[in-house]
Amino acid sequence: MNTSKSKRTPLNAEPLMIRRVDAIPVAIPLTKPIVMGGGQRYEHSESLIVRIEAANGLVGWGEASAAPTMTGDMLAGMVQAVEQHLAPLLVGSNALLRAQLAHKLSRAVIGNTGPKAACDVALHDLAGRHLGVPLVELLGGKARESVCALSQLGNSRVEDDIAEARTRRREGYRFFKLKVGVKPVEEEIGGVHALRKALGPDVILCADANMSMTPSSARKFVLGAADANILFLEQPLRDHDLVGALALARMSPIPLCADESAHSLESIMNWRSAGAIAGVTLKTIKLGGMASTARAAIVCDALGMSLNLASKTGESSIGAAALVHLSYAIPNIDWGINITNQYLSTDLVRQPIGQKGGSVECPTAPGLGIDVDERAIARFKVVS
Ligand SMILES: [Mg+2]
Repeated sequence: MNTSKSKRTPLNAEPLMIRRVDAIPVAIPLTKPIVMGGGQRYEHSESLIVRIEAANGLVGWGEASAAPTMTGDMLAGMVQAVEQHLAPLLVGSNALLRAQLAHKLSRAVIGNTGPKAACDVALHDLAGRHLGVPLVELLGGKARESVCALSQLGNSRVEDDIAEARTRRREGYRFFKLKVGVKPVEEEIGGVHALRKALGPDVILCADANMSMTPSSARKFVLGAADANILFLEQPLRDHDLVGALALARMSPIPLCADESAHSLESIMNWRSAGAIAGVTLKTIKLGGMASTARAAIVCDALGMSLNLASKTGESSIGAAALVHLSYAIPNIDWGINITNQYLSTDLVRQPIGQKGGSVECPTAPGLGIDVDERAIARFKVVS
């Protein structure tokens, strides 16, 4: 029997020793400014890129958005978290032991789920490249052949939302997430009905308020918009307001989704058992990594919850690829995926993660399956 190295299986692969970890802050211009519920206006996306290099020369990549109103992570602090607390635990370790490393990272510093996620994604990318398998295989394999992609709408005029939705509709999208909580609630209810009328009954509409509704405006919205057949309303109230969310859920004809409130598996389980939410938006930057996000998705499925996976606004194809692999592997993704690399003026990979016919495609090359453009990263690096 031939037992040469060429026949070696992933199970007895050589250790993958980490020799170097780099934390690279980048700021990339968006194709157009994005206004979130709550009125925050973004012209650039800010991300931490983590580059992990193994002794055999392989490199793995990870990304996490700065998210001051989501995780509290800010770019300079994210770099510091990696350089001072996370990288020292990784250098000299075997990257194939990623579950053990994820556990170490989770305990190294409180919070900082973004930097932990960027490191964990990079470890998974590195392991996948070393073992020669796409990341979805490391997560248990494909559970489906396509994943429905959401397109985000957030223009200041409803006419522009309708025009943009029609363009996306021609490209194959049939699922739209409308940013709300920005204008007077009566205007937003009118906007939802105008969109429904313009797009017809076959498209799926949902709305995300990013914590910017009052209890009163949220009640008005769910009653006024219900006839427009809204699949779910995401995060109408402040992240900590479980009592308010529960009162809203009891009277709302529209199912509620937690995003900013769902910052850990424990918070998801608490809100679900209280009866405040029907579903949840998961992000790697909130859960702290790939395996922890996959685990949360499995628990949500067991609890009968609906699930949406989302990038923060303006994550490159590095973060998008991680999310796409997850979307193909987790048990349920009935509320779709929204990746956001299409909102960047320039991506950080040579072939950006694509969306075709309203579905995201799962990369097939090893690891994340992307070809990172290090010159683009250098170009957008934030120099302090
Ligand atoms: Mg959201």
